[in-house]
Amino acid sequence: MAASCIFCKIIKGEIPSMKVFESEKTLAFLDINPLSSGHALVIPKYHGATLTDIPDDSLSELLPVAAKLARATGAEQYNILQNNGEMAHQVVKHVHLHMIPKPNENEGLGISWPQQ
Ligand code: 5GP
Repeated sequence: MAASCIFCKIIKGEIPSMKVFESEKTLAFLDINPLSSGHALVIPKYHGATLTDIPDDSLSELLPVAAKLARATGAEQYNILQNNGEMAHQVVKHVHLHMIPKPNENEGLGISWPQQ
């Protein structure tokens, strides 16, 4: 945990968030400034700025959770994005995957988030 990190504060509950998944090592919540309905962030509870800063057992959970969330949105198409460093457009220096669903044509989304 890093005292000044926004995402560590979300993990600790010091900043409110719309949580959509939580396990021992991983948390997912809705992005405060979503690019689409259901835009979620998947983060390790272990604090590290970039992928090379976090242990493999935290890293390995992130993509399966992002896929689980993509499935939960019902979206047939979506982006998984992950930025490392300022030149790569990373703003929050705590590893996170963006899961950005695209609305299904003429249907929108029927999102049903998993609890665990
Ligand atoms: P980055 O550019 O670092 O990959 O993206 C950081 C993301 O974190 C942005 O999409 C931004 O909207 C989101 N974000 C920043 N602060 C907060 C916050 O306090 N709560 C939530 N839910 N999302 C945040």
